Amino acid sequence: MFNALVMEKDDESGLASPVVKQLSTDDLPSGEVTVAVEYSTVNYKDGLCMSPKGGGLVRNYPHVPGIDYAGTVEASSDDRYKPGDKVVLTGWRVGEAHWGGYTQKANAKADWLVPLPDGLDTRQAMAVGTAGFTAMLAVMALEDHGLKPGNGPVLVTGAAGGVGSVATAILANLGYEVAAVTGRAEAGDYLKSLGATTIVPRDDLNETTKRPLESETWAGCVDAVGGDMLARVLGQMKYGASVSAVGLAGGAGLPATVIPFLLRGVNLLGIDSVMQPYENRVRAWQRVATDLPMDKLEAMVHPATLSDLPQFGADILKGQVKGRVVVDVNA
Ligand code: NDP
Repeated sequence: MFNALVMEKDDESGLASPVVKQLSTDDLPSGEVTVAVEYSTVNYKDGLCMSPKGGGLVRNYPHVPGIDYAGTVEASSDDRYKPGDKVVLTGWRVGEAHWGGYTQKANAKADWLVPLPDGLDTRQAMAVGTAGFTAMLAVMALEDHGLKPGNGPVLVTGAAGGVGSVATAILANLGYEVAAVTGRAEAGDYLKSLGATTIVPRDDLNETTKRPLESETWAGCVDAVGGDMLARVLGQMKYGASVSAVGLAGGAGLPATVIPFLLRGVNLLGIDSVMQPYENRVRAWQRVATDLPMDKLEAMVHPATLSDLPQFGADILKGQVKGRVVVDVNA
């Protein structure tokens, strides 16, 4: 028997609610690799999956949420993994369409797993989680499109959130000048401690303007916000610069014109972490291990247990979680 946070649906109301309960291995969906989960985390999607209607992501109940987990292989019918291997899992709709990581034991497809890179333990891997992994993918995409330290300031939107915090720390460590956009004035010191050089108040950027082009300001951007802010930022990019579009914390719309693309050669790069091919996953996790300073990562962490999860889920949907939540599922 082991503990898990399970979303159970009430047939009358049709709404789901969380309960921490004991499960047996017979309850687990089948999989090639059994993982003794050590840590999980809370992403925006986890907040949706723990909400009463499952955020449109969860189809079947009972359901174990948790889109990320890290732990030790207990048993494997796939040659790529053996007992004792340390592994990390993000994406593949785990925690949404499949049971996830808010549990002490999970079954996974071998294809979903990535061996933990040297220099990263399971707790650190979950301090990174999908949010940090995606931030790394976003930075890699900017580099692949020509971003170099010295090109000018790089903007990070939603900076005090999970994606934004990790992107800020990675970019600063790589030698970039980072301008961090936040709606929380009190987050300024925190963002500076991660390496941000400038704090940009959200109000400066969260409304569109009639002018399709403003002065060329940013050499790159990791955007976790979307909506009006992304539309505004596109018109402020330097000639030939790129924006990694990661999130929609401010809205899924994009009320922009094509002028920045046509007159300034601006690139809008889509970043998806869920279906990312294996080779790129391995590359991104290795880059995380080398390019993200672990003391900065530690400064982002809020420790949590399985029973704390519903509150963190509600908070992250309101944009009230600063940095990264690390869930010790065995605590
Ligand atoms: P968080 O909630 O931790 O961070 C989002 C941040 O965005 C908030 O902390 C806040 O930052 C800012 N924000 C929130 N609401 C608004 C608003 N209305 N207008 C402007 N800014 C706002 O979430 P994550 O960092 O985990 O995820 C960020 C986004 O990226 C989400 O939309 C998520 O779904 C998406 N995502 C996408 C992935 C992919 O594969 N493409 C993978 C992971 C996440 P501040 O307080 O500093 O202003």
